Amino acid sequence: MIKGKMYIDGQWVEARSGATRRIENPFDGSEVAEVAEGGREDARAAIAAARRAFDTGGWPQTPAVERGRLLARLADLVEREREPLARLETLDTGKTLEESRWDMDDVAGIFRYYAGMADKDGGEVIASPNPGTTSRVVREPVGVCGQISPWNYPLLQASWKMAPALAAGCTLVMKPSEITPLTTLRITELAEEAGYPAGVVNTILGPGPDVGAELAESADVDLISFTGGVATGQAIMRAAAGNVKKVALELGGKNPNIVFADADFDVAVDHALNAVFFHAGQICSAGARLMVQDAIHDRFVEKLLDRMKRIRVGSGLDAATEMGPLISADHRAKVEQYIEIARKDGATLALGGGRPDDPALAKGHFVMPTLFIDCESHMRIVREEVFGPVITVERFATEAEAVARANDTVYGLSAGFWTRDPDRMARVSAALRFGTVWINDFNVYFVQAPWGGYRQSGLGRELGRQGLEEYTEVKHIYQNHATEAINWFGSK
Ligand code: NAD
Repeated sequence: MIKGKMYIDGQWVEARSGATRRIENPFDGSEVAEVAEGGREDARAAIAAARRAFDTGGWPQTPAVERGRLLARLADLVEREREPLARLETLDTGKTLEESRWDMDDVAGIFRYYAGMADKDGGEVIASPNPGTTSRVVREPVGVCGQISPWNYPLLQASWKMAPALAAGCTLVMKPSEITPLTTLRITELAEEAGYPAGVVNTILGPGPDVGAELAESADVDLISFTGGVATGQAIMRAAAGNVKKVALELGGKNPNIVFADADFDVAVDHALNAVFFHAGQICSAGARLMVQDAIHDRFVEKLLDRMKRIRVGSGLDAATEMGPLISADHRAKVEQYIEIARKDGATLALGGGRPDDPALAKGHFVMPTLFIDCESHMRIVREEVFGPVITVERFATEAEAVARANDTVYGLSAGFWTRDPDRMARVSAALRFGTVWINDFNVYFVQAPWGGYRQSGLGRELGRQGLEEYTEVKHIYQNHATEAINWFGSK
């Protein structure tokens, strides 16, 4: 069994309180690890280490080329460890091994992308209005970063935060979700192997309301980057106000997937399934809100049902499995509650809604692929994030109606639509108010493109050039090459 410690100031340490936590496999509840359960004191020690490494340890002054080299080494190590890392992620989250392998490829790609970007921004000279002067605008690392990640994509989400912070020259304290810390601990070991100096990368474990809140509140933290639910994001914003630290938030989503009657029917069906049942719907960008135009609605639903009945549910380690369990018993209870609410609100359950019959799956936190039809835009199942294998289908008549209904949400992370009409592609992509809009595709993201939400889906952007800029302060340096006396006050 794995024993996990925290990594503070270049040392692997137990919690000061001695507390530990059992980490379970969501497939059968078996224990996969016992890890340190940190508290506020541990968080304060990690913040102090990151502060020292930033203020006096010389890390921000490390040449950008060297920061890039270290990140490239980390990318190499992730590639070397791809298979064991993927297995660890599957044990910890229940997702299929194939999905975990894709995650690891993305993680390596993220470290490599920011390795290449570390030394690309040399600042710019801007036009000064004053003769004999120069004005330069440079970007500098923002400082000590608190980073808090969720359980659905543990290592992927951690890498979105660690890589740009390290490329920019920041130091960091990472706190993974308390229920899925294993791959984050392993990447921390790999960072140690890559050669990061003590205090630059620190990883702490423990409950969000203690350890995470300490990061958000601390006056010694300059930036807090958080991925998780909206309510937690709001608490973090409030906590961050104390020292007006920078706040970057990647929050939830309720993402419309709109199918117009002129779409490529079979391809749209295929992607509608992938948009939701990937990782059992536990994706911030899941296309759980399906909207289908009247003319093809019934045929579309029929085809969806036919495919959904054949989805193979099981252990993520079994190569035949297409959909694994939900992360925890608590989370399953939340998804089941939404299924109940949907029924009461008048949606028609067309498939699923329950647990699998197979006794071999009885110990896992499974919910079968679920489809609700006759859904209306006002229903809670349509408006709120379920984060499970549940699709709601709404009918619409016109393009204007589809766009207005899709935009009528407190979220704004992503949206997709399917059509063959080029004019509609232009119109609808401009009209949808979401951070990412996919045309004839869904759930596609890559490190080169910025990711983040409008409205309550978040603040700031991760990935791409924008993801690096989040970790920088902008400084204007003005130099006068021929300073003369002004001969103003008292000189006449
Ligand atoms: P969560 O908000 O419960 O927890 C996320 C993290 O915050 C965990 O590490 C947790 O320990 C910590 N935390 C909890 N309370 C805290 C507090 N008071 N102060 C500081 N930290 C605290 O979310 P979750 O259930 O782990 O993840 C699911 C949510 O994450 C969903 O809403 C999903 O949409 C969102 N998510 C968003 C994105 C995105 O890119 N926008 C990606 C993945 C997940």
